[in-house]
This record gives sequence, C-alpha cells and structure tokens, in this order.
Amino acid sequence: MVVESIPQAAGFIYGLFAFAALAGLWYSGRFTRRRAVPFLAASAFFGFLVFAPVFPYQLQNLVLRNTAAPGSPLPVALGGLLAFIVLTLVFGRIVCGQVCPVGAVQELMHLVPTKKRGNPESRVPVAVRAGVFVVFLAAGLGLSVNLLALVGLSDFFHLAVASVSFFVFLWIVLLSAVVYRPFCRYVCPYGALLAPAASKALYRLRRTDACIGCGKCERACPTGTADPAARLGECYLCGRCTEACPVAGALTYTRAGREE
Ligand code: SF4
Ligand code: SF4
Repeated sequence: MVVESIPQAAGFIYGLFAFAALAGLWYSGRFTRRRAVPFLAASAFFGFLVFAPVFPYQLQNLVLRNTAAPGSPLPVALGGLLAFIVLTLVFGRIVCGQVCPVGAVQELMHLVPTKKRGNPESRVPVAVRAGVFVVFLAAGLGLSVNLLALVGLSDFFHLAVASVSFFVFLWIVLLSAVVYRPFCRYVCPYGALLAPAASKALYRLRRTDACIGCGKCERACPTGTADPAARLGECYLCGRCTEACPVAGALTYTRAGREE
C-alpha cells in the first residue's frame, strides 16, 4: 500500500508533531492510554502509507550507506536519527512508545485480549538485542547485508505478501499479541541505541513521596521498568503503570529532584 509518490519526509514531519504532542501530554500529566490510541493508529497508518518514520529501517540504510532508500541524503537521515536520540535523552522513549510505526503495530496488537506471556523482570531481551545489534553492525558494515530485510520489516509495511520475509515479520506482529513488543525488545537496532539514552532521560516516570508501595505499577508493567531499581531504559511510556496506580500524584513524569 506504500504510496511511493508521497515523500518519506511527510512521515518524519508527522513524527516530530506526534512526538511534541505526546511529550506535552506527559509533561502536563494528561497522558492516558486511551489518548495514546489515536497516535498509535496514525503512526501505523503512516508506516503503511509512506513507510516512515520507520526508524530502524533508516538506521539500516545508514549503516549500508544506501543513498536511495531513505528518501533523503545520508547526512539528513543521520541528523534525523541523532535528533531523536537527543529527544530521547530529554523525554524518554516516546519514539518507540507511540511514534515509530513498528512499535505502534506491536503496541496495538498487545491490546488484543489474550493471555500475556514473558517474564517482565528478565534481562534476556536486552542481552539478545545487544547481540543482534553487534551482528547487525558487522553484517551491514562488513558484508553489506541488510539484516532487517531478512526480518521482513520493509515487506510487511509494503504488504509484499508474496515474499517469505513478509511472513517473518507478520509472525512477529502476531506474537506481540501475547509477548510485549518482541521486535522492539529483542531485535530493534535503533532501540538498542535509544535504550541507554532513555535510561539517562531528564524526564521520566518517578515515584513521589505519595507512593504507598502497593506494587500495582510493577505488576502492570510489561517490561519490569516500573521497579525503581530498574535502569535498563526499557520504559516505552505505555502508561500502564500510571493507569494502575491508585494514588493520585504517586507516579509522575518529572525531572529528578522534583518528585515531592
Ligand atoms: S508500565 Fe512500564 S513500560 Fe509502561 S510506562 Fe510504566 S514503567 Fe514504562
Ligand atoms: S502503584 Fe502507585 S502507589 Fe503503588 S507502588 Fe506504584 S507508584 Fe506507588
């Protein structure tokens, strides 16, 4: 369904506006999972319409020094990817949470009411993703192999149903109904760069003195990040913890030192 005549820049302009709107919702304390749904739907729609802003694919083309596929000169693509890493250092992983079409389709699939699987406390996904990142770099830089083409990212959004890799990514999307964001957490090379940035983010979800220690946020969190001891940068700002928290103001999106 991707319409080649529409420049991919349209998807990145949408991404910037969506990012700003979502950051505003978090900053003002008005973010809810219900309010996130239109952004998830719009981001998925842009993925199928213009195949942008599909951040891991842009990174893949950067590694391959592919000047044709990104729809923009490589310095512009590099600048865009670096800009969103800087934004993540300030606001957390809003890109992964609701802006990137790849994350959006998985988040939407996880809304399907099925029994959920996976150990949220596990560090295995982060370790696997780090290993995939090393292979991704070696394959791209050393052998000019497009690893994400094998995973089917492009074929899926282009609805290239005749290809085998389309079904690889379709399986990942279907899996995300029961496992939270399998691509983001186990595979995504751009996520591997954003996670360390998010772990140091200026603004992030923090408990305040109002917290009664009931643990409901931790039980609701699909990545184990609601535990204050977790420092893995795996918060996708999904809003499950704030929705589950029974105490107003106990869990807020704020800067360090402003938790009172
Ligand atoms: S539930 Fe977990 S992943 Fe979602 S916003 Fe809260 S801490 Fe982040
Ligand atoms: S759900 Fe709210 S009150 Fe309970 S532990 Fe988490 S932040 Fe504290």
